[in-house]
Amino acid sequence: MSQRTKFLLDESRMPTHWYNIAADLPVPLPAVLHPGTLQPVGPDDLAPLFPMELIRQEVSTEREIEIPEPVREVFRLWRPSPLFRAHRLEKMLGTPAKIYYKYEGVSPAGSHKPNTAIPQAWYNAQAGTRKLTTETGAGQWGTSLSFAGSLFGIEVQVFQVRVSYDQKPYRRAVMETYGATCVPSPSNLTNSGRAILARDPNHPGSLGIAISEAVEIAATNDDTKYALGSVLNHVLLHQTITGLEAIEQMQMAGDDPDVIVGCTGGGSNFAGIATPFLGLQLRGGRKRRFVAVEPAACPSLTRGRYAYDFGDTAHLTPLTKMHTLGSTFTPPGFQSGGLRYHGMAPLVSHLKELGLIEATAYHQTACFEAGVMFARAEGIVPAPEANHAVKGAIVEALRCKAEGRSETILFNLCGHGHFDMASYSSYMAGKLVDQPYDEAELAMALSGLPSVPA
Ligand SMILES: *Cc1c(COP(=O)(O)O)cnc(C)c1O
Repeated sequence: MSQRTKFLLDESRMPTHWYNIAADLPVPLPAVLHPGTLQPVGPDDLAPLFPMELIRQEVSTEREIEIPEPVREVFRLWRPSPLFRAHRLEKMLGTPAKIYYKYEGVSPAGSHKPNTAIPQAWYNAQAGTRKLTTETGAGQWGTSLSFAGSLFGIEVQVFQVRVSYDQKPYRRAVMETYGATCVPSPSNLTNSGRAILARDPNHPGSLGIAISEAVEIAATNDDTKYALGSVLNHVLLHQTITGLEAIEQMQMAGDDPDVIVGCTGGGSNFAGIATPFLGLQLRGGRKRRFVAVEPAACPSLTRGRYAYDFGDTAHLTPLTKMHTLGSTFTPPGFQSGGLRYHGMAPLVSHLKELGLIEATAYHQTACFEAGVMFARAEGIVPAPEANHAVKGAIVEALRCKAEGRSETILFNLCGHGHFDMASYSSYMAGKLVDQPYDEAELAMALSGLPSVPA
C-alpha cells in the first residue's frame, strides 16, 4: 500500500473562527500595566496604537472569534495550508516515530506571518487608518504587512533592524515591490532612534529599538497606527488558524500527535499550532506535550526572568509579564533574525509558568544541520528560524528511537528559507559560529527591569 504524504483540506473546510485559549485558561493572564501608574491599562491607553477591534481581541475571553469574510477571501489565496507526513525524514533518522509538519511557507510572503498581517491591515482599514508603522528583523514580518497593506490601500512604513537591512537587501526589495517604504533602524526619523545613534552611530539595531521607532511614529500621528507581528494576544489568536487546520488534517491522516513542536521568537507560530490542541486538553481531552524551541543565543523562555518588562528599548510600551532577557538586551549576531527578541509572548510565558508547555534551546549550527538534513529528505529548505522547530522534532524522533517508542510528532514548518540562502552559504562554508550571549550584559539588562510590586 502506498503511503500518503500530503493532507489537503478543501477550501470549504477552512476555519471560520479563530480559537482564543484565554477562554480555557485555568488561571487568567496577569494584567498589562501602565508604566507610569502601574495600574492595568484600559482600551483608551492602547487606542493611539491599535484599532478598537484588535484591542477587543487583545483582552477577549470569548472562545471563538469570527474571521471576517474579506479576510478569509484573501486567505483562500493559499489556505488551507498543507500538512505533510515526513516519511523520508523518518527513514533517514531510522525512527519508529511518525513525523508530520504543517507547512506555512506556501503563503505569498513565505511564512506564517500573513495569517495576522491580513486581519490586522483589514481591521485598520475598517477603522480608517491611513498608515501603519512596524518593525522587522529578518524581513518576514515587514514583507507580510507590506503585502497586507497593498491589499487594503494602507501605506506601510517598516523600520528594519540595521544589520538585517544591510544583510538582506532582497527582503527590502520585496517590501518595496508591495509598495512599502523601508527605513534602517536606528534612524534619524524618531527621538528614540536619534538617542541611540547619538551614543553609537554604528549601532546594529535590535527589534526592541525598531519597535520604539515604529510606536513613536504611530503614537504621534493621528492617522497612523502600529502593527506588531508577534507577542500580543491578538497576533497569537490569528495564528490559531494553523493549529485548527492541523487538528482536522491529523484526523484525515488517522493519527494524533503526542508531541507538538514549534520555534519561538515572540511565540506566535508556536501558539498558533499548539493552543488549539492545548485547548482540547484543557476542556478534558487527552494530554500532549508541547515543546517550544528557541535559539541558545537569545533564550528568553529558558534563561529569561518571568517579570514585568517593557516590550521595547525606549520604554514606550505598556508593561507585560513575560519571560524576558531585559529590554536593553542586544543578542549576539546570529542568522535567525526573526528570533532575536528580548521577550516572549505573555501568553506563551504564562503557559510555561503553568507547566502546560516545555521549552528548550539550541545553538544555530545544530539547527542548520537539522535544516539541511530536512531539505535533503523532504525537499523544502526551511527558514533559519524554522530550523529550530526541525531540530526540536528530530530530537524527539531520536528520543523515540532510543526508547523504541512509536510516538507521533507534529511540528510547524513556519516558513521557507529562500531569502536566507546567504546564511546557508555561511553554514556550509563552516563560517557560522555558535555565539553565546554575554552573561554580563544579560545581568545588566535584567538589573534594569522595572520594579513592580507583587
Ligand atoms: C517571525 C518568524 C518567526 C518568529 O516569530 P514567532 O512569533 O515566534 O512565530 C519564526 N519563524 C519565521 C519563519 C518567522 O518569519
